This record gives sequence, structure tokens and C-alpha cells, in this order.
Amino acid sequence: MVFDGSANGHDAKVFFNQRGGITYNDFTLLPGHIDFNVDDVELDTRLTRNLKLKKPIVSSPMDTVTESKMAIQMALLGGIGIIHYNNTIEEQVKHVRTVKRFENGFITEPVVLRPDKTIADVRKIKETYGFSGIPVTEDGTLGSRLVGIVTQRDISFETDAAKKLSEVMTTELVTAPVGITLQEGNKILKECKKGKLPIIDKEGRLVSLMSRTDLLKNEDFPNASKNKDKQLLVGAAISTKEEDKERLDALVGAGVDVIVIDASQGDSVFQINMVKHAKKKYRHLEVIGGNVVIARQCKSLIDAGVDALRIGMGSGSICITQESLAVGRAQGSAVYHCAKSAREHGKIPIIADGGISNLGHLTKALALGASVVMLGGMLAGTTETPGEYFYEGGVRLKKYRGMASFEAMDAGGAKRYFSDEDKVKIAQGVTGAVVDRGSVVNLVEYLAQSLKHSMQDLGCRTIDDLHKTLYSGTLRFEVRSPSAQAEGGVHGLYSHKDPHPGLFKQVINQRDL
Ligand code: GDP
Ligand code: GDP
Ligand code: 5GP
Repeated sequence: MVFDGSANGHDAKVFFNQRGGITYNDFTLLPGHIDFNVDDVELDTRLTRNLKLKKPIVSSPMDTVTESKMAIQMALLGGIGIIHYNNTIEEQVKHVRTVKRFENGFITEPVVLRPDKTIADVRKIKETYGFSGIPVTEDGTLGSRLVGIVTQRDISFETDAAKKLSEVMTTELVTAPVGITLQEGNKILKECKKGKLPIIDKEGRLVSLMSRTDLLKNEDFPNASKNKDKQLLVGAAISTKEEDKERLDALVGAGVDVIVIDASQGDSVFQINMVKHAKKKYRHLEVIGGNVVIARQCKSLIDAGVDALRIGMGSGSICITQESLAVGRAQGSAVYHCAKSAREHGKIPIIADGGISNLGHLTKALALGASVVMLGGMLAGTTETPGEYFYEGGVRLKKYRGMASFEAMDAGGAKRYFSDEDKVKIAQGVTGAVVDRGSVVNLVEYLAQSLKHSMQDLGCRTIDDLHKTLYSGTLRFEVRSPSAQAEGGVHGLYSHKDPHPGLFKQVINQRDL
């Protein structure tokens, strides 16, 4: 059969080279051929050169989006969270440590106590870290002889908090020898029905610890993003400022897996120096640079040594950069051109950051070459975000604000915008509110399932396939005229029920919150 030029739409090269700024709403993807079930679609992807994820979703380093609670949940679900830096180094490090301690294989640095410590000490650890199964060693350090273990069961009903651990600890212990595999350790934990399994050397000195809870967590979240020690993956943001070299050191010390150098205009000498410094000092640390929107900027950061690029300038839902500074790019064009450049010059993945305001945008970002999508607004208002819910007109809301809103800058967030010392601050973002969206668990599962359906319609089983069709020209694009956009939405009805109330179409009141 012979088709004329546009019977099957256009390939990406023709489509994007013909036009200026394309947003996600300006185009549609034409269907592919389906020869598999939706359950056959896999969402595995790369966040950076060396970090893999099971779901292409990252939560943004914003102070109303990602702290440890969000980062834990994102990693359990197969994505990852990036802890924001609108806080002290100590606070940010604490969030990273909380994520790293949440799940483990061998706990290689367990909290240990001396026999003359008290029940009050254990309760304090419980308050700080959330666990209370504490091995007791002769001198209270790892590497000294194990003499007992104290768990919640030993102390629950004790009224005398000053009682020494030597009086309450369990001394008949099930232990395992150093050198066993994780599988063997798990088998012993299952069989002995104990909560903790201390691993000891030939002289009886404590080497590490295993926890039964981790078996359950592992079963509940089989797709979790983990490192080789079965700790959850976590990222953290730093600025390009010289003083954040100290922040970098502290984050690496806390076990962070990936650093995001957070700047609204990434092609700067400050960022290039920071990337070089981080990569030189920590050769195995993954570093994400950004934000960039054109090929020339990508090249600067790729040459500096980044392991991934973050794409977007002015497309975020809370963002007014394009209007206040007249600089930025429509996100569809930015993602397409930068992904192509990153693939050609550095073979590194890119992250489509910002502007994802409905389910289809997620697919479109990946179809334009992104390996991962970074979400701010779409995750805002979930239980796992920082901040309290409040009511307005009977609606339960949570605050969501741009990091360059006056409010966030006052709290320290201006570092991203080169302006924390400026006498006159220019707002590049707003403060807003979003409705309560419940737990991010349901939301992310919903996003992932809808993505699988889109990919099936496009005839792509994997994100890799999607990128192959993009660059081979098999994936076809067409313009969505304003009337095509109206046609693609609900129309002609007297009323209808929104299948996702409050999720994608928010009513935002313009006023101070
Ligand atoms: P790997 O890719 O070879 O590390 O394979 P898996 O992820 O399948 O893990 C290997 C073994 O470790 C299996 O027996 C898993 O059940 C177990 N495992 C995986 N994650 C955890 C965890 O977080 N804690 C514990 N204790 N065991 C785990
Ligand atoms: P516990 O019985 O009160 O110790 O607490 P759980 O077993 O419910 O939770 C322990 C969780 O914290 C597991 O997922 C561990 O991997 C994790 N964890 C991280 N670091 C430590 C540590 O130093 N000691 C203990 N006991 N657990 C830790
Ligand atoms: P969203 O997912 O809400 O559309 O966009 C989130 C992204 O917007 C963030 O990841 C970040 O790149 C960007 N962003 C966050 N705060 C601001 C801000 O105040 N101004 C601008 N220009 N961008 C912001």
C-alpha cells in the first residue's frame, strides 16, 4: 500500500525540526502495532549512567515534595526521591540516613550498646531511628564480643527506665557466622522465628546484623530500588555554591547514591566546577547535572562529566521563569533535543523535569527520549510530602510552592537561582495549594499502570523499545490543533464525573497562602 507523506504522521526528526517550541499538549503520538499483553510491558529504566530503576519516576528536590518519607516510598515502589537542600546540612543528612537505614540486607553498621547502658537509652534510639532491636557487646561497639541482645519484648513492660541492659537482655542467642550469604541468613531468620540475627566472627565478635522485618519489606515491595547491600536508593540535591562542597562531603558520608546539582540554568562555570570537583573526589558517585534545555548546554555538562542530565526550564507547574525572565523552552522541544544530544554525545540518560500535568504527559516525555520523569506538582498533596494538611472551603489541602517563590527563598531556597545574596529577590515561582491526594503508593501504581497501557498502544514493550522507535522513525507524531485538543478532552456533555477528582485539574486560588 502506498501512503502519501503524512498518512502515518511524521517521524520525530521532521516533526521537531519543522517547528519552534512544542509542549506536551501540542502533539499526539500515533498508535503502533500490538502483539503483546499489557502485563508484558516493563518499565525498567536508567536514572543515570550506572543507576537502574524499575519505574521511571523521580520525586523532585523541593521542600514541599521530598524528604525521607517520600524518598522511602518512592524507592520502595521502584522509583527514587531526591532530598531537597532548603535546610541545614545536618537536616538533609538525617533524611538521607533515614532512607538508607529503612531497609537492609546485612545491617553493616548497626546501633550497638554496652551492657551498663539502660532501658532509657534503648527508648531514645527507638525515638530517633524507629527500631529497638539492639545488640549488646562488651564495650558497646561493633567488632567487640557479643554478649546479648535487647528487643522490644525485653523492655515493653519495664517501668524502671534506669535498669541496666545486662539485667533485661536476652543472652541465649541464635547467631550466624560471618561469610554466610544473604539467602542463608534469610533462611535462618525464617526458621528460628527470631526478629534479629547477629552475624559474628570466630571469636564471637559482632560483625553485622540481620532483621526479620526486612524479609517482609522485601516481599511487600519486590520492585524496590536498592543497592547491592539491599539498602534503598536515595538522591540529594546540592547547589553550585562553593560552600556546598561541605554538603556534598556530608551527603556522601551518609551513603547518598546520587547527587543532583540543582540550578535553574545549568550551563555555568559554577556548575561545571562543581561537577568536576564531585566526580574527581568521589569517582563512584553518580552526578546529575542541570537544568538544561538546549543541546549546547548539554554538551557543556557532558564534557564536565555528568552521569545524567535534568531537562526543563520554566515548564514547572509553580514556575514563572519564562514570564519573569523571558528565558526557557517549551518542554516537549527541550526533552526531544536534549535527549538526542545526550544520547549522541555522552550516551547518558536524561530526566524530563517539570510540566507533567496529566497521565499522557508521562508517556510523551519518555517517548521524546527521556529515561525518567521528575514530578513535583503531581506528587504534591500526598501523605508522604512534608507539611500539614489544612482546610479551605471544606476542601483538604496541602501547600505546594516553587523553590524560587518568595516564601521558599526566604527559607533558604534561592541557591538554585544564583540569587541568595541579592538585595532584591526576583520570584521565579509561586506558592500554591493542591488537594489531598492520599498516599503516593496508590498514585504511583496508577501512573505506572496507565503508562503500561500507553506503551502497549504504541507497540512498545520497554522504554528502550520506545526510544528505538523514536530514533528509527517508527514512532509517529502529529500536531494537535486547538480544536484537536478540545476534541481529545471531554466535550458535549451536560455533566460528567471526573475519574480522578482533584488529581490533574486543580482549581488554584490566586491569593497569599
Ligand atoms: P540479587 O540481584 O542477586 O541481589 O538478588 P535478589 O534481589 O533476588 O536478592 C538475593 C537474596 O536476598 C534473595 O534471597 C532475596 O530474598 C534477599 N533479599 C533481597 N532484598 C533483601 C532485603 O532487603 N533484606 C533481606 N534480608 N534480604 C533481601
Ligand atoms: P525493631 O524490632 O524495633 O528493631 O524494629 P524493626 O525490626 O521493626 O525495624 C528494624 C528496621 O530498621 C529494619 O528494616 C532494619 O533493616 C532497619 N535498621 C537499620 N539500621 C538498624 C540498626 O542499626 N538496628 C536495627 N535493629 N535495625 C536497623
Ligand atoms: P512540576 O512537576 O510541578 O510541573 O515541576 C516541578 C519542577 O519545577 C521542579 O522539579 C523544578 O525543576 C521546577 N521548579 C521548582 N520550583 C521552581 C520555581 O520556583 N521556579 C521555577 N522556574 N521552577 C521551579
